[in-house]
Amino acid sequence: MKAIVLKTTEHLVVQDVPKPLPGPGEALVKVTCCGVCGSDIRYLHGENPWAQHTLGEVRENPPNIIPGHEIAGVVAEVGEGVDKGLIGKRVGVLCFKVDESCPWCRRDLRHLCANTIHLGHGAGQFGREYYYGGMAEYVPIWADHCYRLPDSVSDEQAAMLDPLCVGLHAVSPDAGPGKSVLLIGAGVIGLCALQCARALGATQILAADIDEGHLAVAKRLGADGAINVDKRDLTEAVMDFTGGLGVWLVVDSVGMPLARSLPLVIRGGRLALLVVKDREETISTLLLAGERRVMTCANFDYPEFTYGLDLLASGRVNVEELITHRFPIDRGLEAFRVAESKEGGAIKVMINA
Ligand SMILES: [Zn+2]
Ligand SMILES: [Zn+2]
Repeated sequence: MKAIVLKTTEHLVVQDVPKPLPGPGEALVKVTCCGVCGSDIRYLHGENPWAQHTLGEVRENPPNIIPGHEIAGVVAEVGEGVDKGLIGKRVGVLCFKVDESCPWCRRDLRHLCANTIHLGHGAGQFGREYYYGGMAEYVPIWADHCYRLPDSVSDEQAAMLDPLCVGLHAVSPDAGPGKSVLLIGAGVIGLCALQCARALGATQILAADIDEGHLAVAKRLGADGAINVDKRDLTEAVMDFTGGLGVWLVVDSVGMPLARSLPLVIRGGRLALLVVKDREETISTLLLAGERRVMTCANFDYPEFTYGLDLLASGRVNVEELITHRFPIDRGLEAFRVAESKEGGAIKVMINA
Protein backbone atom coordinates (compact mmCIF):
# COMPACT_ATOMS: atom_id res chain seq x y z
CA MET A 1 0.00 0.00 0.00
CA LYS A 2 1.00 3.60 -0.49
CA ALA A 3 2.20 5.62 2.50
CA ILE A 4 4.02 8.78 3.44
CA VAL A 5 7.07 7.72 5.44
CA LEU A 6 9.35 9.81 7.63
CA LYS A 7 12.50 7.72 7.10
CA THR A 8 14.61 9.89 9.41
CA THR A 9 14.73 13.58 10.36
CA GLU A 10 14.15 15.80 7.28
CA HIS A 11 13.72 12.74 5.05
CA LEU A 12 10.09 12.32 4.04
CA VAL A 13 9.11 10.07 1.11
CA VAL A 14 6.04 8.53 -0.50
CA GLN A 15 6.60 4.80 -0.93
CA ASP A 16 5.02 1.37 -0.88
CA VAL A 17 4.96 -0.37 2.48
CA PRO A 18 3.54 -3.74 3.54
CA LYS A 19 -0.22 -3.59 4.15
CA PRO A 20 -0.63 -4.25 7.88
CA LEU A 21 -2.85 -6.94 9.36
CA PRO A 22 -5.16 -6.13 12.26
CA GLY A 23 -3.84 -7.75 15.45
CA PRO A 24 -6.06 -9.07 18.27
CA GLY A 25 -8.40 -6.32 19.42
CA GLU A 26 -7.56 -4.17 16.41
CA ALA A 27 -9.47 -2.88 13.41
CA LEU A 28 -7.83 -2.20 10.07
CA VAL A 29 -9.12 1.18 8.96
CA LYS A 30 -9.13 2.25 5.32
CA VAL A 31 -8.19 5.89 5.72
CA THR A 32 -10.40 8.42 3.95
CA CYS A 33 -8.72 11.53 5.32
CA CYS A 34 -5.90 12.45 7.64
CA GLY A 35 -4.90 15.95 8.72
CA VAL A 36 -1.37 17.28 8.62
CA CYS A 37 -0.75 18.57 12.14
CA GLY A 38 1.79 21.16 13.28
CA SER A 39 3.30 18.40 15.38
CA ASP A 40 3.86 16.26 12.25
CA ILE A 41 6.03 19.08 10.94
CA ARG A 42 7.94 19.21 14.22
CA TYR A 43 8.57 15.45 13.94
CA LEU A 44 9.80 16.00 10.38
CA HIS A 45 12.38 18.41 11.76
CA GLY A 46 13.50 15.97 14.46
CA GLU A 47 11.57 17.19 17.48
CA ASN A 48 9.40 14.91 19.60
CA PRO A 49 6.65 17.29 20.75
CA TRP A 50 4.75 14.61 22.67
CA ALA A 51 7.75 13.94 24.92
CA GLN A 52 8.34 17.68 25.32
CA HIS A 53 4.74 18.54 26.18
CA THR A 54 3.88 15.54 28.31
CA LEU A 55 7.12 14.45 29.92
CA GLY A 56 9.22 17.60 29.65
CA GLU A 57 11.95 15.59 27.94
CA VAL A 58 13.82 15.96 24.68
CA ARG A 59 13.61 12.56 22.96
CA GLU A 60 14.74 11.08 19.68
CA ASN A 61 12.32 9.57 17.18
CA PRO A 62 12.56 6.08 15.70
CA PRO A 63 13.08 5.69 11.93
CA ASN A 64 10.29 4.80 9.46
CA ILE A 65 7.36 6.64 11.00
CA ILE A 66 4.19 6.86 8.92
CA PRO A 67 2.89 10.19 10.27
CA GLY A 68 -0.73 11.08 10.86
CA HIS A 69 -2.92 10.99 13.96
CA GLU A 70 -5.90 13.06 12.77
CA ILE A 71 -7.63 10.12 11.17
CA ALA A 72 -11.04 9.15 9.86
CA GLY A 73 -11.96 6.22 7.68
CA VAL A 74 -13.94 3.04 7.21
CA VAL A 75 -13.25 -0.23 9.01
CA ALA A 76 -12.05 -2.73 6.39
CA GLU A 77 -11.11 -5.75 8.52
CA VAL A 78 -11.11 -6.68 12.18
CA GLY A 79 -8.71 -8.80 14.21
CA GLU A 80 -9.37 -11.52 16.75
CA GLY A 81 -11.91 -10.67 19.43
CA VAL A 82 -13.44 -7.70 17.59
CA ASP A 83 -17.13 -7.53 16.64
CA LYS A 84 -17.41 -8.11 12.87
CA GLY A 85 -20.31 -5.63 12.87
CA LEU A 86 -17.69 -2.89 12.87
CA ILE A 87 -16.66 -3.77 9.30
CA GLY A 88 -17.87 -1.16 6.80
CA LYS A 89 -18.59 1.45 9.49
CA ARG A 90 -17.26 4.99 9.31
CA VAL A 91 -15.12 5.89 12.31
CA GLY A 92 -13.20 8.73 13.92
CA VAL A 93 -10.04 7.75 15.74
CA LEU A 94 -8.82 8.43 19.26
CA CYS A 95 -5.17 8.23 18.31
CA PHE A 96 -3.45 7.31 21.55
CA LYS A 97 -3.73 4.52 24.08
CA VAL A 98 -2.60 4.59 27.68
CA ASP A 99 -1.76 1.89 30.26
CA GLU A 100 -4.78 2.67 32.55
CA SER A 101 -2.66 1.66 35.55
CA CYS A 102 -0.19 4.47 36.29
CA PRO A 103 -0.82 7.12 38.97
CA TRP A 104 -2.08 9.55 36.30
CA CYS A 105 -4.44 7.19 34.46
CA ARG A 106 -5.91 6.15 37.81
CA ARG A 107 -6.76 9.81 38.42
CA ASP A 108 -8.37 10.45 35.02
CA LEU A 109 -5.28 12.25 33.73
CA ARG A 110 -4.66 9.84 30.87
CA HIS A 111 -3.14 12.55 28.74
CA LEU A 112 -0.21 12.63 31.19
CA CYS A 113 0.49 8.90 31.01
CA ALA A 114 4.17 8.22 30.32
CA ASN A 115 3.28 4.83 28.81
CA THR A 116 1.24 6.25 25.98
CA ILE A 117 1.22 4.47 22.63
CA HIS A 118 0.65 6.84 19.74
CA LEU A 119 -0.45 6.38 16.18
CA GLY A 120 1.60 8.41 13.77
CA HIS A 121 4.72 9.03 15.74
CA GLY A 122 5.88 5.80 17.18
CA ALA A 123 5.79 6.66 20.91
CA GLY A 124 5.39 3.52 22.98
CA GLN A 125 5.81 1.15 20.03
CA PHE A 126 9.10 -0.65 19.88
CA GLY A 127 11.26 -2.34 17.28
CA ARG A 128 8.85 -2.24 14.36
CA GLU A 129 9.74 -2.05 10.72
CA TYR A 130 7.18 0.73 10.20
CA TYR A 131 5.34 2.77 12.83
CA TYR A 132 1.85 2.99 11.37
CA GLY A 133 -0.09 6.23 11.22
CA GLY A 134 -2.88 7.74 9.17
CA MET A 135 -0.97 8.95 6.12
CA ALA A 136 -1.35 5.62 4.38
CA GLU A 137 -4.08 3.67 2.66
CA TYR A 138 -4.65 1.53 5.76
CA VAL A 139 -3.81 1.78 9.43
CA PRO A 140 -4.31 -0.78 12.23
CA ILE A 141 -6.08 0.78 15.21
CA TRP A 142 -7.32 -0.51 18.59
CA ALA A 143 -10.98 -1.27 17.88
CA ASP A 144 -12.18 0.47 21.04
CA HIS A 145 -10.49 3.67 19.83
CA CYS A 146 -12.54 3.65 16.63
CA TYR A 147 -15.63 5.79 17.36
CA ARG A 148 -18.65 5.18 15.12
CA LEU A 149 -19.66 8.41 13.40
CA PRO A 150 -23.24 9.67 13.29
CA ASP A 151 -24.55 10.63 9.82
CA SER A 152 -24.33 14.29 10.78
CA VAL A 153 -20.52 14.09 11.03
CA SER A 154 -18.50 13.75 7.81
CA ASP A 155 -15.18 11.94 7.58
CA GLU A 156 -13.35 15.23 7.14
CA GLN A 157 -15.03 16.72 10.19
CA ALA A 158 -14.08 13.61 12.17
CA ALA A 159 -10.45 13.97 11.10
CA MET A 160 -10.57 17.34 12.88
CA LEU A 161 -11.55 15.75 16.20
CA ASP A 162 -7.98 15.56 17.44
CA PRO A 163 -7.15 19.29 17.12
CA LEU A 164 -10.69 20.15 18.26
CA CYS A 165 -10.18 18.17 21.47
CA VAL A 166 -6.74 19.72 22.03
CA GLY A 167 -8.49 23.11 21.86
CA LEU A 168 -11.28 21.91 24.14
CA HIS A 169 -8.80 20.65 26.72
CA ALA A 170 -6.93 23.97 26.67
CA VAL A 171 -10.01 26.10 27.38
CA SER A 172 -12.39 23.87 29.31
CA PRO A 173 -11.35 24.63 32.88
CA ASP A 174 -11.49 28.42 32.46
CA ALA A 175 -13.78 29.44 29.59
CA GLY A 176 -17.40 29.91 30.55
CA PRO A 177 -20.03 32.58 31.12
CA GLY A 178 -18.46 35.80 32.36
CA LYS A 179 -15.02 34.84 31.16
CA SER A 180 -12.87 36.49 28.51
CA VAL A 181 -10.48 34.51 26.32
CA LEU A 182 -7.57 35.62 24.16
CA LEU A 183 -6.20 33.34 21.48
CA ILE A 184 -2.59 34.18 20.64
CA GLY A 185 -2.35 32.53 17.25
CA ALA A 186 -5.43 31.94 15.09
CA GLY A 187 -4.20 28.78 13.42
CA VAL A 188 -5.96 25.42 13.65
CA ILE A 189 -5.59 24.99 17.42
CA GLY A 190 -6.41 28.64 18.15
CA LEU A 191 -9.52 28.51 15.96
CA CYS A 192 -10.63 25.22 17.54
CA ALA A 193 -10.04 26.67 21.03
CA LEU A 194 -12.01 29.75 20.02
CA GLN A 195 -15.04 27.72 19.02
CA CYS A 196 -14.87 25.53 22.12
CA ALA A 197 -14.68 28.66 24.30
CA ARG A 198 -17.73 30.03 22.51
CA ALA A 199 -19.59 26.73 22.93
CA LEU A 200 -18.74 26.77 26.65
CA GLY A 201 -20.23 30.24 26.95
CA ALA A 202 -17.21 32.55 27.17
CA THR A 203 -18.50 36.10 27.04
CA GLN A 204 -15.67 37.86 25.24
CA ILE A 205 -13.28 36.19 22.79
CA LEU A 206 -10.30 37.92 21.20
CA ALA A 207 -7.99 36.54 18.54
CA ALA A 208 -4.47 37.81 17.82
CA ASP A 209 -2.41 36.85 14.78
CA ILE A 210 -0.29 38.40 12.04
CA ASP A 211 -2.32 36.85 9.20
CA GLU A 212 -5.36 38.87 8.11
CA GLY A 213 -6.91 35.76 6.50
CA HIS A 214 -6.76 33.81 9.75
CA LEU A 215 -8.17 36.78 11.65
CA ALA A 216 -11.07 37.04 9.20
CA VAL A 217 -11.87 33.36 9.83
CA ALA A 218 -11.67 33.99 13.58
CA LYS A 219 -14.24 36.77 13.23
CA ARG A 220 -16.55 34.56 11.17
CA LEU A 221 -16.27 31.83 13.80
CA GLY A 222 -17.31 34.13 16.61
CA ALA A 223 -14.34 36.22 17.79
CA ASP A 224 -15.53 39.51 19.27
CA GLY A 225 -12.24 41.19 18.45
CA ALA A 226 -9.40 40.46 16.02
CA ILE A 227 -5.98 41.98 16.65
CA ASN A 228 -3.31 42.10 13.96
CA VAL A 229 -0.16 42.23 16.09
CA ASP A 230 1.89 43.52 13.16
CA LYS A 231 -0.29 46.61 13.10
CA ARG A 232 -1.29 47.07 16.69
CA ASP A 233 0.40 46.72 20.06
CA LEU A 234 -1.07 43.56 21.59
CA THR A 235 -1.06 44.72 25.21
CA GLU A 236 -2.68 48.02 24.32
CA ALA A 237 -5.35 46.31 22.20
CA VAL A 238 -6.17 43.72 24.88
CA MET A 239 -6.43 46.41 27.57
CA ASP A 240 -8.68 48.45 25.27
CA PHE A 241 -11.02 45.51 24.72
CA THR A 242 -11.12 44.56 28.41
CA GLY A 243 -11.33 47.98 30.06
CA GLY A 244 -7.74 47.66 31.31
CA LEU A 245 -8.36 44.37 33.14
CA GLY A 246 -6.72 41.74 30.95
CA VAL A 247 -8.32 38.40 30.09
CA TRP A 248 -9.21 35.37 32.18
CA LEU A 249 -7.70 32.88 29.81
CA VAL A 250 -4.85 33.40 27.36
CA VAL A 251 -4.33 30.45 24.99
CA ASP A 252 -0.91 30.73 23.38
CA SER A 253 -0.47 28.42 20.40
CA VAL A 254 2.55 30.24 18.97
CA GLY A 255 5.00 30.33 21.89
CA MET A 256 5.17 34.03 22.72
CA PRO A 257 7.76 34.96 25.42
CA LEU A 258 6.16 34.79 28.89
CA ALA A 259 7.24 38.35 29.60
CA ARG A 260 4.87 39.47 26.83
CA SER A 261 1.94 37.11 27.40
CA LEU A 262 1.71 37.08 31.21
CA PRO A 263 0.87 40.80 31.52
CA LEU A 264 -2.27 40.09 29.45
CA VAL A 265 -3.67 37.74 32.14
CA ILE A 266 -6.12 39.17 34.69
CA ARG A 267 -5.60 38.49 38.43
CA GLY A 268 -6.78 34.92 39.03
CA GLY A 269 -6.55 34.10 35.33
CA ARG A 270 -4.58 31.48 33.44
CA LEU A 271 -2.06 31.32 30.66
CA ALA A 272 -2.41 28.07 28.68
CA LEU A 273 0.73 27.17 26.74
CA LEU A 274 0.28 24.96 23.71
CA VAL A 275 3.87 25.25 22.55
CA VAL A 276 6.47 23.82 24.91
CA LYS A 277 10.02 24.16 23.69
CA ASP A 278 13.46 23.55 25.09
CA ARG A 279 14.32 27.17 25.79
CA GLU A 280 15.13 29.36 28.76
CA GLU A 281 13.22 32.50 29.68
CA THR A 282 13.69 35.03 32.42
CA ILE A 283 10.67 36.73 33.97
CA SER A 284 9.96 38.72 37.09
CA THR A 285 7.85 36.57 39.42
CA LEU A 286 5.79 39.72 40.01
CA LEU A 287 4.11 38.82 36.71
CA LEU A 288 2.62 35.81 38.51
CA ALA A 289 1.23 37.88 41.39
CA GLY A 290 -2.51 37.80 42.01
CA GLU A 291 -2.79 34.02 41.64
CA ARG A 292 -2.06 34.08 37.94
CA ARG A 293 -1.43 30.54 36.70
CA VAL A 294 0.67 29.22 33.87
CA MET A 295 -0.24 25.78 32.59
CA THR A 296 1.11 23.78 29.70
CA CYS A 297 -1.45 21.79 27.74
CA ALA A 298 -0.75 18.23 26.72
CA ASN A 299 -3.24 16.50 24.47
CA PHE A 300 -6.65 15.68 26.05
CA ASP A 301 -8.27 12.92 28.09
CA TYR A 302 -10.52 10.21 26.63
CA PRO A 303 -13.88 11.71 27.71
CA GLU A 304 -13.00 14.94 25.92
CA PHE A 305 -12.95 13.00 22.65
CA THR A 306 -16.59 12.09 23.26
CA TYR A 307 -17.41 15.72 24.10
CA GLY A 308 -15.64 16.83 20.92
CA LEU A 309 -17.71 14.40 18.87
CA ASP A 310 -20.85 15.77 20.55
CA LEU A 311 -19.82 19.32 19.65
CA LEU A 312 -19.38 18.27 16.01
CA ALA A 313 -22.58 16.25 15.82
CA SER A 314 -24.64 19.07 17.31
CA GLY A 315 -23.20 21.65 14.91
CA ARG A 316 -21.91 23.78 17.80
CA VAL A 317 -18.52 24.04 16.10
CA ASN A 318 -17.57 24.52 12.48
CA VAL A 319 -14.38 22.71 11.56
CA GLU A 320 -15.01 22.56 7.78
CA GLU A 321 -14.08 26.20 7.45
CA LEU A 322 -10.58 25.38 8.71
CA ILE A 323 -9.89 22.82 5.98
CA THR A 324 -8.29 24.83 3.19
CA HIS A 325 -6.23 22.30 1.22
CA ARG A 326 -6.55 18.68 0.17
CA PHE A 327 -3.89 16.43 -1.35
CA PRO A 328 -3.76 12.74 -2.28
CA ILE A 329 -1.05 10.59 -0.64
CA ASP A 330 1.06 10.84 -3.81
CA ARG A 331 1.44 14.55 -3.23
CA GLY A 332 2.25 14.15 0.45
CA LEU A 333 5.49 16.10 0.35
CA GLU A 334 3.68 19.06 -1.18
CA ALA A 335 1.02 18.75 1.53
CA PHE A 336 3.69 19.07 4.23
CA ARG A 337 5.30 22.02 2.45
CA VAL A 338 1.99 23.88 2.16
CA ALA A 339 1.07 23.12 5.77
CA GLU A 340 4.40 24.45 7.01
CA SER A 341 4.65 27.55 4.80
CA LYS A 342 0.90 28.26 5.12
CA GLU A 343 1.02 29.30 1.47
CA GLY A 344 -2.29 30.01 -0.21
CA GLY A 345 -3.82 30.86 3.18
CA ALA A 346 -3.44 27.27 4.38
CA ILE A 347 -5.00 26.50 7.74
CA LYS A 348 -5.65 22.74 7.84
CA VAL A 349 -4.19 20.59 5.10
CA MET A 350 -5.81 17.19 4.60
CA ILE A 351 -4.42 14.08 2.98
CA ASN A 352 -7.38 12.45 1.27
CA ALA A 353 -7.69 8.94 -0.08
ZN1 LIG B 1 -2.26 16.95 16.05
ZN1 LIG C 1 -0.97 5.64 32.52
